[in-house]
Amino acid sequence: MQIHLDRLTGIAAVVPTSEGAHVTVYAGTRLERLNELLWSLGLSMINLGDIDMQTLAGAIATGTHGTGAAFGGLATQVVGLEIVTATGEVVTCSAERNPTLFEAARLGLGALGVITTMTIACRNAYVMHAEERPEPLDAVLSDLERIRTSVDHFEFYWWPHTHRVLTKRNTRLPGATPLRPVGRIRGYIDDELLSNTVFGGINAVSTRVPAIIPRANALAARLLSAREFTDAAHRVFASSRRVRFREMEYAVPVAELPGVLERIDRLLTDGGHRIGFPIEVRFAAADDVWLSTAHGRDTAYVAVHMYWKQDQRRYFRAVEDIARSVDGRPHWGKLHRRAAADLRPAYPRFDDFVAVRDEVDPDRVFGNDYLARVLG
Ligand SMILES: Cc1cc2nc3c(=O)[nH]c(=O)nc-3n(C[C@H](O)[C@H](O)[C@H](O)COP(=O)(O)OP(=O)(O)OC[C@H]3O[C@@H](n4cnc5c(N)ncnc54)[C@H](O)[C@@H]3O)c2cc1C
Repeated sequence: MQIHLDRLTGIAAVVPTSEGAHVTVYAGTRLERLNELLWSLGLSMINLGDIDMQTLAGAIATGTHGTGAAFGGLATQVVGLEIVTATGEVVTCSAERNPTLFEAARLGLGALGVITTMTIACRNAYVMHAEERPEPLDAVLSDLERIRTSVDHFEFYWWPHTHRVLTKRNTRLPGATPLRPVGRIRGYIDDELLSNTVFGGINAVSTRVPAIIPRANALAARLLSAREFTDAAHRVFASSRRVRFREMEYAVPVAELPGVLERIDRLLTDGGHRIGFPIEVRFAAADDVWLSTAHGRDTAYVAVHMYWKQDQRRYFRAVEDIARSVDGRPHWGKLHRRAAADLRPAYPRFDDFVAVRDEVDPDRVFGNDYLARVLG
């Protein structure tokens, strides 16, 4: 049985704080709508991922994150929630009320009940200055610590079979800063035509002729050009993704990142892989959310993708082996092969989470095959 919360949407309450507000949101609200509602109230979410199509509760339940050395994933923004448990009881929880359930349910994989509202800490509305430019991968990695900590939100996309990356540096600015959004024509060319239409076409062709991929990537990396713009924070964070793909993402200790990328580079050369999709690298601060992929350690995220008509299994398995060798943790909402036995040692609070689950849902009313695999 699948429950849709598409009609449980909107904002239920706003309580001002010194930095913005605590906003109670119905769980089925999609981030796209929430961002616009918040903006109209003079508020913004603290951090966001790449897309805004997910529901707030779905994104948070699966551990969705964005990038930023000093910023946690979406679950770190949760200060309270209301959940309907397996007995039908409606429980309100926060750090003060039912704190154990709160700790587990703020990133709960849907295993503990149906969340009906989430209260999230928001900031006064802010805008972001975005700087995107092509750079050599080696130059970024050799100065990584300084680069990733010297700007609010840093990330890069690496074109496999090349040593070129597109870096993105986003700087938070006060809400009153004048906006200089990407022009309509440039936005269409970069974000629609190149990122979706042309990219989709290249993937369709290279599915039939994989040998062209390294040269296509080298060409794409050369065609990248720099751009700068300033826009409402949520419009800078989120982009449109219309080319279908499969994805696996691993959270690794940040110090391991250069070694992991070096081994992936060697894998591509030696393993006969032909990968057309860029590898996305992001960062997050250590947090204390029990099942957060950044729990207890500053984290780098490495996301690998494959066009949906291509078989991703051999590539993803090989990258997963590399990430596992440095104690990597898989994104809960993306492809991976891990199970409870080998996830338990990766999460110091894994057994605390399982104990809460045993208490609130002993009969596994909310059980499913995926949860049986990853939680036991
Ligand atoms: C194109 C694309 C880009 C992405 N970019 C990022 C990114 O930048 N960063 C990142 O970290 N992830 C990213 N993801 C993953 C994404 O954020 C989510 O993890 C995933 O898509 C689930 O979100 P959803 O709204 O589809 O959730 P759903 O499919 O609705 O929910 C996912 C799960 O959450 C649980 N759940 C949902 N609602 C509730 C509720 N009310 N109560 C209790 N449990 C609930 C259920 O277990 C459900 O199976 C991306 C995904 C895609 C497709």
